[in-house]
Amino acid sequence: MDTASDLNISRVSKHYGIFRALNDISLSIKAGEFMTLLGPSGSGKTTLLMTLAGFVRPTRGHIISKGKDLATVPPHKRNFGMVFQHYSLFPHLTVAANVAYPLKLRRTPRAEIETRVRRALDLVQLGYLADRPIDKLSGGQKQRIALARAVVYEPDVLLMDEPLSALDKNLREAMQFEIRNLHDKLGITTVYVTHDQREALTMSDRIAVINNGKLAQLGAPEEIYNFPSDAFVAEFLGESTLLPIDQQGAQITYAGRPINIDRKVASARFLMVRPEKLDFWDESFDSNYNRFDGLIRQTVFQGDTLQIRIELDQGQEILMRRSARRDIVERLSQKGAAISLALHRSD
Ligand code: ADP
Ligand code: MG
Repeated sequence: MDTASDLNISRVSKHYGIFRALNDISLSIKAGEFMTLLGPSGSGKTTLLMTLAGFVRPTRGHIISKGKDLATVPPHKRNFGMVFQHYSLFPHLTVAANVAYPLKLRRTPRAEIETRVRRALDLVQLGYLADRPIDKLSGGQKQRIALARAVVYEPDVLLMDEPLSALDKNLREAMQFEIRNLHDKLGITTVYVTHDQREALTMSDRIAVINNGKLAQLGAPEEIYNFPSDAFVAEFLGESTLLPIDQQGAQITYAGRPINIDRKVASARFLMVRPEKLDFWDESFDSNYNRFDGLIRQTVFQGDTLQIRIELDQGQEILMRRSARRDIVERLSQKGAAISLALHRSD
């Protein structure tokens, strides 16, 4: 048994009739780790989280926590905290009563409830709202209260299912840091579900990419983003161009010309290029850079950056992203102009 891990998902499958919502997933979550399950809608994220919580029973496989198989342990005995997209707070009760609720269920003495509720509300900086009824709060405040309620009884694991997806963009981004800070303060093992790649990259120690009920890739954010194991992960994690390549041993060629690249190319069929890694070609560049020539097809101003579509001489379209500095905007706004790009071997 892997004792360094708090939570072990071992060969878990969930079948609904002939449909496989989860297909042989194995994943070890370390004590204190922030693990994100990332995947498109319908990929099986919630189902997997619910097998951890004990609300869904796996068709095959096991959930093991600290060496103990949870098969016969009901949800309320797992001591896992949960936060959902739709807060599921009691709207007519006060903030304090909501946060106290899990402690009352556990028959915690009244004095201790008071101390713990205050501490949990302080953690989310909403102590001053203790006596407010829930239905008088904003969405962001509700989600902080839901968080306080989930951690108030010091659960072994915190499970969160798209907790921020009902919030608007600015608040969502602020809350990403708040949740991560809370995790770091409490050191609590966390499994976080999202379909938002940027959110996953921002918050996680490691990301498990889920596709069609299967584990597509597991790794640290930088690893998943820069070294995706297949085309699905490459495209789901952000903008990219997949250049068709030939690979013979260590030799990679694109359109008959050798490509000089350090990373292991996972698939023999394509080289993934992230748009922000492309540079303008400069005659002083040496053989550490790969050169691509083409014509500007479209330039889109997006505020902070420019998105540029370039048709390479070989006919393939490639995506580039640069800072929207004024001189660059001017230079790239000429549709049909020739352009040469550079990709460094370490990118
Ligand atoms: P996600 O959270 O990634 O959006 P879910 O885990 O909710 O995905 O669902 C994964 C797949 O399993 C979906 O196709 C969904 O329709 C199916 N599914 C989930 N629960 C059930 C159920 N109780 N009965 C039948 N199919 C289900
Ligand atoms: Mg879901």
